[in-house]
Amino acid sequence: MLRDIHSYNISSVENVEDIGFKISNMDLHVDPFDDFYNYACGTWLRRRKIPKDLPRINSFYELENITYKKLKYILLSCINEPSKFKNGKLLADFYQSYIDIRTRERLKFSPIKYIIERIDALRSKDELPKLIAFLMLNAVNTFISFDPSPDEKNSSIYALHIYQSGLSLPEKSYYIEDLFKKVRSDFRKNIIKMFRLYGVSIAEAQRAADAVIKIETKIAMISRSEEELRDVLKNYNKMSINEFRRKFAYLNLDELLNGIVTKLPDYLIVGQPEFLSGLEKIIEEENIDDIKLYLKWHVLKSTASLLHKRAVKTLFLFFGKQLRGQKKMKPMWRRATNFIIDTIGDALSELYIKEYFDKSTEAKAVKLVHNIRKAFRERLSKVAWMNLSTKKKALEKFDAMHVEIGYPAKFIDYSSIKSSKKDLVGNYIKAYQFELKRVMSRIGKKVDKKEWDMEAFTINAYYDSSMNKIVLPAGIFQPPFFDPNLDDAINYGGIGGVIGHELTHGFDDQGSKYDKYGNAKEWWTTKDREKFNEKAKEVEKLYSSLEVLPGIHVNGKLTLGENIADLGGIHIAYDALHYALNGKNPIIDGFTEEQRFFIAWAQIWKEKSTTKLKKLLAKIDPHPPGRFRGLIPVVTHGDFERVFKEKSKLNAPKFRYSDVNLW
Ligand SMILES: [Zn+2]
Repeated sequence: MLRDIHSYNISSVENVEDIGFKISNMDLHVDPFDDFYNYACGTWLRRRKIPKDLPRINSFYELENITYKKLKYILLSCINEPSKFKNGKLLADFYQSYIDIRTRERLKFSPIKYIIERIDALRSKDELPKLIAFLMLNAVNTFISFDPSPDEKNSSIYALHIYQSGLSLPEKSYYIEDLFKKVRSDFRKNIIKMFRLYGVSIAEAQRAADAVIKIETKIAMISRSEEELRDVLKNYNKMSINEFRRKFAYLNLDELLNGIVTKLPDYLIVGQPEFLSGLEKIIEEENIDDIKLYLKWHVLKSTASLLHKRAVKTLFLFFGKQLRGQKKMKPMWRRATNFIIDTIGDALSELYIKEYFDKSTEAKAVKLVHNIRKAFRERLSKVAWMNLSTKKKALEKFDAMHVEIGYPAKFIDYSSIKSSKKDLVGNYIKAYQFELKRVMSRIGKKVDKKEWDMEAFTINAYYDSSMNKIVLPAGIFQPPFFDPNLDDAINYGGIGGVIGHELTHGFDDQGSKYDKYGNAKEWWTTKDREKFNEKAKEVEKLYSSLEVLPGIHVNGKLTLGENIADLGGIHIAYDALHYALNGKNPIIDGFTEEQRFFIAWAQIWKEKSTTKLKKLLAKIDPHPPGRFRGLIPVVTHGDFERVFKEKSKLNAPKFRYSDVNLW
């Protein structure tokens, strides 16, 4: 469909071969028992610099660089001949409106003026729910957020969830801990800068900054931490509409949902009821002018990236540079592509699959998945710590888990969006409203189990606990995760480990709380659950002992699910590799297949981050840093010492996965 595909020489810009598994990424001067991560990735770590327009570089970003060039090619082709491609005009308009700097400079803040004026028109706090709804319809989320997703206890039906929201900084600790004092003062300066740019006096801008920080600090105090948000049942509080109306009258549900849903649902799931009670107090205490300033800030913050250059730069200065340590902005075309991914991503996905997904990959992937599943089932049937009745249910859940590979069964139909190549903010809000309407209109209806949460070109994978399925997008079936030209060890250590990881999520501290139908329901005996918790505690302790930066440790509770999945994943993939090797263990490039497996696993987690990003992710990311993902599952594997043959120099944690042997 896309012509001249070969004349766009991707490899001249970024050598595709370079990012795959490579012995030359290793540092053979390092003893694998001293520091396996540096042994496996040391040369890459030493040579690779973090690009100025990124807060970190890792295998995912390296591969993303190639993907984005393909996406750019698709978008430029749409601009050239929009009628030739499905959604061609839509994609071209979105892209062109984004890169049309001249129009953006001319318009400055005028595209969002109507939103600010609406805030100015607020006369009393009673009108607040109506205003919150208006803002939501204009892509601005403030105090709360809505999520129409499957009901955790009745996973075949979509339910309306209402969650805590309203913060600009990544997590509540940013407002409270001394560690983030400098971030808070930079944040304050940034709010002042943005309001000044908008055209208010210094005094007014300072007042706005004080109001925003005061209100957001209060919101932070009543918010749950990332760690607390992981508890499924604690964040599930079903309420009838009348009960909600009674308990949270100040939110005036009918006005809050007016224009957002066509008909009120039968019930709501409140994530954090104490947050909604706390929010009522905050709104009572604060004066209306300060609330208006807080809301205006959120309008400026969520739209500045779509306005003129100085607004974009001001936003980046804090949220990119000061918060994440990213030195400069990504080039315009990358930002424009991101904008499209965030708004009408499926349109791009559909063309990407047509042009770049090799169908033969699918067949190879299916075979790999089959072997990984077989290995997992085998391990599960042999688990000794679990009672037979729980194990039977675990196997049933495992057998019911389905795997989707490559791309979704259908792509979203965007044909009703009327786009314009001159109206960036308009395009954004239209796409936002389209999506809001699409997802809100299905509350109370049957869940579409075929739907995906990722684009087909995304370099990632996920397990969906409500659907009991794993999704492996086309994007991840590329080097260094998958390379059909390389030996089994590389593929089992790469994508094999990733698949094992996702399958294990079905049985981690969160996933194990869902049954085979995807309903949050305890299907374990009390005793087995206790045993699981004891074992999980060991994993938590191990990871909590790891230091990200001096004085900052991995949060073993927040990262527990990912760590269980990494440990399980590598064991499952290692077993599956042995099916493929069938008793052989050939030497390739000086390393046995078993050795190459562990090296490949560590290499997919090669990563370098700015200190600022490390600090941030330690607070909010449920994944530990790449270094520990590459290192810990390997050095705690029961076969590690035998495979690398040097028991005497062992310098690894005493923890052995075989002592826990969860999955
Ligand atoms: Zn995961």
